[in-house]
Amino acid sequence: MSSQLTPPPALSAAATAALLVDTTPYLSCDECFERMDTHVEALLADPGDHDPAMEHHLAGCAACHEEADSLIALLTAD
Ligand SMILES: [Zn+2]
Repeated sequence: MSSQLTPPPALSAAATAALLVDTTPYLSCDECFERMDTHVEALLADPGDHDPAMEHHLAGCAACHEEADSLIALLTAD
């Protein structure tokens, strides 16, 4: 009787990337909040604009991410 080992379910590439991404916020929420307006305005003016510190903080901090989203919604609302 052979025991069959069940291989662990394979992670999708996206799931692996999500695990590997460093979401340690570079900034404190206060610093993020101070830079929020500038970051969002730069982003709206030029979608290719990158602020790695802000992006990392927003990726790792749901509260600031939500804040950025509502600011973008506010600025893009007609
Ligand atoms: Zn934050």
